[in-house]
Amino acid sequence: MILTNFNKKNKTYAQKKSNFKVVLDAGHGGKDPGNTGNNYFEKKIALNVTLKVGSLLSKEKDIDIIYTRKKDVYLTLSKRADIANKSKANLFVSIHCNAHNSDAFGAETFVLGLHANNRNFEIAKKENSVIFLEDNYESKYEGFDPNNPESIISLVLMQEDYLNQSIEAASFIQNSFVSNLKRKNRTVKQAGFLVLRNTYMPSVLVELGFLTNKKEGAYLNSKKGQNDMSNAIAKAIINYKKSLSGNLINNSSNESNKIELNNNLSIVYKIQISASTRKIELKSYNFKGLNNLTRTYSNSLYRYYYGEFNTYSQAKSYLSFVKKKGYKGAYIKAFRNGIEININSKMKKD
Ligand SMILES: [Zn+2]
Repeated sequence: MILTNFNKKNKTYAQKKSNFKVVLDAGHGGKDPGNTGNNYFEKKIALNVTLKVGSLLSKEKDIDIIYTRKKDVYLTLSKRADIANKSKANLFVSIHCNAHNSDAFGAETFVLGLHANNRNFEIAKKENSVIFLEDNYESKYEGFDPNNPESIISLVLMQEDYLNQSIEAASFIQNSFVSNLKRKNRTVKQAGFLVLRNTYMPSVLVELGFLTNKKEGAYLNSKKGQNDMSNAIAKAIINYKKSLSGNLINNSSNESNKIELNNNLSIVYKIQISASTRKIELKSYNFKGLNNLTRTYSNSLYRYYYGEFNTYSQAKSYLSFVKKKGYKGAYIKAFRNGIEININSKMKKD
């Protein structure tokens, strides 16, 4: 592709460096116990895991943690979003436990979206029903009715700008549960969670597992279970952050790093515009008029890309164009022979 509109202003933007801010939101609290399957308390388990995730992440010098609650107190859903927005965070993670009248078990991670099936709607409905504890919930949530599936549609559009990165973050967390802890993979899903609606940043909701399942409930209520889950979430957030700065964990030796640097010619850069559990046809009308589209599939996710560039700076010059088209969460990835690779500082200068 030909470089046409390289914008020097981008430079000052890239030089600005501040800490990565994560808002950790322990679900429920105070008069709202959450679900109480097998007499365990969702609000307690969510808080324990949240505080543990926070203490693990605070050891990272370039990550700042903001909590919506650190104690057993009641908070409205809109207050949680307010805290997140005021802190101008890079990621919002809400932590919950599931309940079902079957033996269902397993961890799942949600992003805001239209539910693909009734089960996902039921989970969102349960979590959203906490607004009934709030005064004036009808006016505060603009007539939102947790019991009405159609009510969800109005929520979904608001988080669209961040969906791409929300799904990425969710898949890091979900994959971490599966690869580190061998938890049953209920995969990344979409559903209409009210707490995710008003956050202006990538946002995910984790259901750690089912308190109603005898074995899983006991595990999540145990110190070991809570430590395991916290470790997996913290690790995933660190890896998600690294993936954004083009600095994914590198398991390769120095030797292979050298090869990487000498082989820059075969590297291509693409702009990731969205990610989805759905397979979407690569037609420009599906992608706000963009052409030059490609798609990959891994870890149950389709990723959609714009363009193919020989240098990082070329890709960067098109990034603002793609963002203006409406893909505000778009970002650059690098590939060699179709395999995603790290973007290092040398590549950024090319
Ligand atoms: Zn909950």
